Amino acid sequence: MFEFTVLATCGRARAGILRTPHGDLPTPVYVPVGTQATVKTMTPRDLSELGATLVLANTYHLYLRPGGELIARLGGLHRFMGWPGPILTDSGGYQVFSLKALRKVDDDGVTFRSHLDGSTHRFTPEKVVAIQEQLGPDIGMCLDECAPPLDHAYNEQALARTHAWAERCRAAHRRADQALFGIVQGGVFPDLREQSARFITSLDFPGHAIGGLSVGESKEQTYTTLDRMDACLPQDKPRYLMGVGTAQDFIEGIARGVDIFDCVLPTRLARHGAALIPNTQYQNGRLNLRNAQYAEDEKPIEEGCTCYTCQTFTRAYLRHLLVAGEILGLHLLSIHNLHFLLDLMRRIRASILDGTFEQLAAAYR
Ligand SMILES: [Zn+2]
Repeated sequence: MFEFTVLATCGRARAGILRTPHGDLPTPVYVPVGTQATVKTMTPRDLSELGATLVLANTYHLYLRPGGELIARLGGLHRFMGWPGPILTDSGGYQVFSLKALRKVDDDGVTFRSHLDGSTHRFTPEKVVAIQEQLGPDIGMCLDECAPPLDHAYNEQALARTHAWAERCRAAHRRADQALFGIVQGGVFPDLREQSARFITSLDFPGHAIGGLSVGESKEQTYTTLDRMDACLPQDKPRYLMGVGTAQDFIEGIARGVDIFDCVLPTRLARHGAALIPNTQYQNGRLNLRNAQYAEDEKPIEEGCTCYTCQTFTRAYLRHLLVAGEILGLHLLSIHNLHFLLDLMRRIRASILDGTFEQLAAAYR
């Protein structure tokens, strides 16, 4: 049911298709993040029109509110959020470990306090699998412990837990219409990464996630680790680089054999009034539309962009909406930002299929 086919390669970059119960997924793919079972301000119809194929929802948030049981009673996530395509959920572990002062980890699981009302909860490997089986995404994730990437001792300790939890998640997983991915950890340390890849791949998951990157290490260290992961992970299964998603990250990740990326950047930036644009047009690849210099600017966000926002509205109008606190401003900026990454991913995929990926990549380096 989750057959993965590599159609073409260009160097180590791959273009493929991942079969899921809710449709075939062209890879490489960018996954918009819908934390609360919604990509902020975007309807599923908007997402389809932008060409999104896979959407991510967060287990931690949905477990706390409205609850996995309620979503299961209402027919699962696809029905609940009105998204007919493939859905991916994380395990909730990353959010829980981010709570820092509000959580306590032991070998059996992690106890934490809700950021909503302070109530106490506990995630074990079996529990996060059960919640994800209630939510019903096409792809779910094992519970793992994401340690600070530069702390060897902590990573070694966390890895033992991550591996034991992966085994328990696999044993607890029941739904045949859901793929459970294993997660490789180990920070920036080659010995730990290799050890983790060996163990996780031995459990024969249908796909592998690379966790614990882009959380404080240098770009150089990220790319070196991805090189190593490419050599260690099986070629015939999809690889998912979690929580990473700038244009440059896509290029460098795909050049090292990554197939799936998720990132909150497009919608988070929109809420801050910033638009994604090519690095070649402006230094940092961001346009802060709140700036006074755009008050009478009649250009679109990005010249030549084919998104609805750029085809229809001026920077001046968008700035007005943002300054006036109008919701439409967030929506229109989200359309452009999501289009920016989805369109880039489509161009990358096409370039792998026609053998010109290296030329495209060179423009981003
Ligand atoms: Zn645009």
